[in-house]
Amino acid sequence: MRDRVSWLLCMALLLLVLAGIVISRAQGRTDIIFGGADGVYVRDEGIVAAPVEEEQDDSTDEGWPDIDITQAQYRMVNDNTEFLLPSSFEPDCGIIAGTSYMMFDYETLPYLDAMLEAAKNEGFTPYIAAAYRTYSYQTQMFNAKASALAGDIDYMDPRYQQYAQKAKTIVMYPGSSEHQLGLAVDIWDRQRNVTPLYENMNQDFFNWLDSNCAKYGFIKRYPTRKLLLTGWDEPWHYRYVGVEAATYIMEHGICYEEFYKHYMPDFKY
Ligand SMILES: [Zn+2]
Repeated sequence: MRDRVSWLLCMALLLLVLAGIVISRAQGRTDIIFGGADGVYVRDEGIVAAPVEEEQDDSTDEGWPDIDITQAQYRMVNDNTEFLLPSSFEPDCGIIAGTSYMMFDYETLPYLDAMLEAAKNEGFTPYIAAAYRTYSYQTQMFNAKASALAGDIDYMDPRYQQYAQKAKTIVMYPGSSEHQLGLAVDIWDRQRNVTPLYENMNQDFFNWLDSNCAKYGFIKRYPTRKLLLTGWDEPWHYRYVGVEAATYIMEHGICYEEFYKHYMPDFKY
């Protein structure tokens, strides 16, 4: 008996629902939709679709500095033909304070001197292990490495090429070094350097440099953690790019390739 009552109730309900559909169709209404896991959904004509968000312009969205990447201080240098420095590239240089012959780009030298002075005031003893290098000096360094690897094999021998390729992974190929640009220095802390192994160097000094270099327009150019992007692991190499760019790069923990690509979308690394 109870089953029969339930069945009748179900049928009545079904009829009501069907009637509802028929009536709403008859009235030309299509705003009632039945179904869905939560029961009945009613489409409210008052709700309008959310506006499609327009693509944001990154340069204003995330605080990317408004700079002209084609200026000299932003020059990208690497071993791709497009980014090699010609042998004729020779910047005007001056001597870095506290050194006898280490050279740096003349116009930006005051920023480097100021950074080194600030490091000294913090109790560190910065030592410039490398600064400006001429194209010919870079060539000498590269050839010395390649011939050391090749041993008895003469450079005219076709087999020499594989050693030259190997040398490219150890010493920067002539024209591909930022040291020729005059805007890069290798800095160590003289006091506590046991060997030129980064792990053995004074990490307090590098921590200070990494926290403060951007104030003087410098970036840590080849941090170990970015090796796969830059191709180099040279954690003591600092490059001048100007305060604006350096601040953004160091605050966001990106490498120069990532920064450069933002302004030069076709750039590949
Ligand atoms: Zn270097």
